[in-house]
Amino acid sequence: MFTKILIANRGEIACRVAATARKMGIKTVAVYSEADAGAKHVAVCDEAVCIGPAAAKESYLCADKIIAAALATGAQAIHPGYGFLSENSDFADACVTAGLVFIGPPASSIRAMGSKSAAKSLMEKADVPLVPGYHGDNQDADFLQLEADKMGYPVLLKASAGGGGKGMRVIEKSADFKAALASCKREAISSFGDDRVLAEKYLQRPRHIEIQVFADTHGNCVYLFERDCSVQRRHQKVLEEAPAPGMTLERRAAMGNAAVAAAKAVGYVGAGTVEFIANQDGSFYFMEMNTRLQVEHPVTEMITGTDLVEWQLRVAAGEPLPMLQHQLKLHGHAIEARIYAENPEKGFLPSTGTLKHLRTPSAVTFELGNASIPAAVRIDSGVRAGDTISPFYDPMIAKLIVWGEDRNEALARMAQALSEYQIVGLANNIAFLQRLIASQSFSSADLDTGLIERNGDALFPAAAPVSIDVLALAAVALVTSEKSAAANDPFGNTSGWRMNSGLQRTLHFADAALEDAEAQPLTVEYQSDGWQIGLGSASVKTTLSLHDNSDFRLTLDQRAVRGSVVRDGDVFHVFAGGGRTALNYNDPLAHAGAAEADGGRLTAPMPGKVVAVLVEKGQHVKKGEPLVIMEAMKMEHTIAAPGDGMVEEVLYAIGDQVADGAPLLAFKLA
Ligand code: ADP
Repeated sequence: MFTKILIANRGEIACRVAATARKMGIKTVAVYSEADAGAKHVAVCDEAVCIGPAAAKESYLCADKIIAAALATGAQAIHPGYGFLSENSDFADACVTAGLVFIGPPASSIRAMGSKSAAKSLMEKADVPLVPGYHGDNQDADFLQLEADKMGYPVLLKASAGGGGKGMRVIEKSADFKAALASCKREAISSFGDDRVLAEKYLQRPRHIEIQVFADTHGNCVYLFERDCSVQRRHQKVLEEAPAPGMTLERRAAMGNAAVAAAKAVGYVGAGTVEFIANQDGSFYFMEMNTRLQVEHPVTEMITGTDLVEWQLRVAAGEPLPMLQHQLKLHGHAIEARIYAENPEKGFLPSTGTLKHLRTPSAVTFELGNASIPAAVRIDSGVRAGDTISPFYDPMIAKLIVWGEDRNEALARMAQALSEYQIVGLANNIAFLQRLIASQSFSSADLDTGLIERNGDALFPAAAPVSIDVLALAAVALVTSEKSAAANDPFGNTSGWRMNSGLQRTLHFADAALEDAEAQPLTVEYQSDGWQIGLGSASVKTTLSLHDNSDFRLTLDQRAVRGSVVRDGDVFHVFAGGGRTALNYNDPLAHAGAAEADGGRLTAPMPGKVVAVLVEKGQHVKKGEPLVIMEAMKMEHTIAAPGDGMVEEVLYAIGDQVADGAPLLAFKLA
């Protein structure tokens, strides 16, 4: 076995590979770009080598730099992960030339499967079923159109060199053929540098079912059952599960054997995935083979109790497969959800930013390769709180994988785990995944690749009004933070300032998900043991039973309500009832002050009395920090810092009466 390997990747997959290497006592070398110097994958490896600037083509895609790093650190083998150089046959060759082991298939297998058309010709010879279509060399437009007419519409055009859902066009009728062909070729040349296409019958409501295969250098080749990856957006997977719902023993064996035949036809070694497209009646056709470890491999690990990275390392070191076909057993059901930094409401547009707050569900320990106790909840992630999702790489934040005795148990566990996942700092798809998991189509396993489009109404519902529970949590978080700010302040302490019973203030929170949402006035009346919180005609007696950092437990009348509130500037992120609500806190007085602050003065918005001074001369404060609290007409108003800055002068003391527009503080923005 190797004693040291280099991992030519980043993010969650680099961390995933490192975890198995550590378990096996193998040292790891990370490579990283300048943008990733502080990344998690660098931290979890034993050594790390910087290989260039942020852009992947100047770092993670530079075969020579990676091979040089392996040689310099004494690594014996390179694991390419997925993406980047994992399916680059020249890189596989270059490793071997440099005397390194490429932890993957031989370059010849990668090449054979690299072109969708060439792969299809090979598969035809190996008797693997293919979607009816044309995948030959003739690229003449009239000829291709004739072929399309013969197979009948709708027809799908695919770039032969394509991948990642790019370079595909669905054509509904013959008249549209030429225009679609031209646009498909344009995309193919710009994305893959190769404009050859193939045409095939476009299946209606198909499912994407793939088979995990594994081969060693001793002539063994097995399949580790199937994964259903039908739930996709823009032809990219969102949810994956194993086994495929509705799969029969006969069909599983037929698909497994077809996949093994496909692998054997190209002299395959290592982990690979044969992707099939299946009709609702179960008939299936070869689509392509991915000659690497797949993103969704954990669901297979969970139902088979295997560690596929360990298998990869053993096979690459020349050992035989750890298990043969008859030893492989399928146990329970696993589902993976890809948590992306993206905005589902805006066409799944990727989002970038810093993970200002990250709390993951209580992961049930992942025992790699322990068949008797599968992990119930597993999180594969390449980021930690405080890390950044940059525009340079894939916007995946993590993979959440759950296991259950059956599909329903796995579904329930997934729903639970998603409800415990807290992310603040970037747009993400957690709420969307929750709706997807709960949707009638997914929960009843009525699967096909158009599931998301078909269920638009259920998956993108109109926003519901914010509940009083959520508003009460935000309000209590706000008033308790002010109280502690006051308690920390020497003037606050000596003044004996307290929230007087009977004092009432009005807070304005607006649903941040809605543009131009009207903030409903929320009244908060201070009482000796809590608050009376009112919204419209509703009013609840609110007491605080527990407060631990961002976690709160309240009693609203007779109901216990719990949740977390994370404040990010003027936005309060409230996690409660399994959902997240972002609330814009509109402090009109702080904003009134902000306008004045340019002139260096924060002024009183109305005549009243100063009830608390929370800062002193020379103090540095952050934007939004409360500075002075005024009381007018039994209502309390907070004057907050309009930006990060310094208090130059405090012009009034507690108990002073101030006139409308009177300057309260001299403030200097940083
Ligand atoms: P890529 O390599 O870009 O991922 P694939 O050939 O694997 O492309 O196809 C991606 C997805 O496109 C499939 O998972 C499926 O949803 C859809 N698809 C591919 N071929 C067909 C077809 N013949 N009919 C209907 N949908 C298809």
